[in-house]
Amino acid sequence: MPIYDFLCSAGCGKFEDLVPWTQDSQPCPVCSQPAKKQVSAPLRTATLWGDTSFGINGHFDQGLQCRVTSYADTDRKLAARGLVRESDLGGDMYVERKMDAALLERTQHKAMVAEYTTNLKKFDGCENAKGLALAETFPAHKMLAESDTTP
Ligand SMILES: [Zn+2]
Repeated sequence: MPIYDFLCSAGCGKFEDLVPWTQDSQPCPVCSQPAKKQVSAPLRTATLWGDTSFGINGHFDQGLQCRVTSYADTDRKLAARGLVRESDLGGDMYVERKMDAALLERTQHKAMVAEYTTNLKKFDGCENAKGLALAETFPAHKMLAESDTTP
């Protein structure tokens, strides 16, 4: 779920990464120099982007990247692209909350993989090293506790 474009300050070019929406830079995966988050227009309609009045000629919708002349026109153009208003998705900051949740999940996944890798080294040479490492990384009491909190 890569979301933001970043541009490396050392000239390696652009890359995408999933980061919290408040984060403005990210180390370049090639050279580790800071890369700046690029301005992008995710699926966001004009309601959060300045002038939202339609007037005689409508206004330019930053999210749709085209001119819209009324709410009905906006809805038609959204529907034609298979999009919905962010306000229809679950309120303010929906996209940001989803992205932060996805980032947290990825971070937790990386931590589990790192713990498993460490445990695998610990049992190196044992006949059932993988099984022992899995049992150490995902002990039954921990899994049961997690399943209790999941509806
Ligand atoms: Zn770079």
